Amino acid sequence: MFQRSNIRHCKQCGTAVTYRLPDDGDTRERAICPACHTVHYENPLNVVGTVPFWNDQVLLCKRNIEPRWGKWTLPAGFMELGETVAEGAARETHEEAGAQIEMLDLFSIMNVVRVGQVHFFYRAKLISPDFDPGHETLEARLFAEHEIPWDDIAFRTVRETLKCFFADRARGRFELHQIDIA
Ligand SMILES: [Zn+2]
Repeated sequence: MFQRSNIRHCKQCGTAVTYRLPDDGDTRERAICPACHTVHYENPLNVVGTVPFWNDQVLLCKRNIEPRWGKWTLPAGFMELGETVAEGAARETHEEAGAQIEMLDLFSIMNVVRVGQVHFFYRAKLISPDFDPGHETLEARLFAEHEIPWDDIAFRTVRETLKCFFADRARGRFELHQIDIA
């Protein structure tokens, strides 16, 4: 059974938690506080980003943070409270690349069950080829398909999204891709 949990202590009172089935008929073991009885639920996190493009080129960012420091990625990050999926994707694109974009359609949804994440990428049309990368990015630049550093892409979700993007571009029609990352 999938276990992402690393909760050791109660977030309410600090007591060491125990893992057991709650008493309410829940069928999954949860981290439960033996002192104050708080049940700590854990659910998948959303990662939101964009595929920013300029004519036949795509914008990639070289990571200045771990994990995968120095590898290339599409602008993406964890969704924040108080924003929609699209707003989060646009925010990450501004923060990581300093890129001016027009948000287009949702392009890929990827379940990364092993780590408890769902990744969403939107196509985004660049309004300008000039960027102003933030501190999380060493370099932001445009790549044509034949220039993509496939062996130095930071994450499999980014690689799969890029493959789908260039395949759709070649046939002249973009659609939503739903992929389960093993
Ligand atoms: Zn507690």
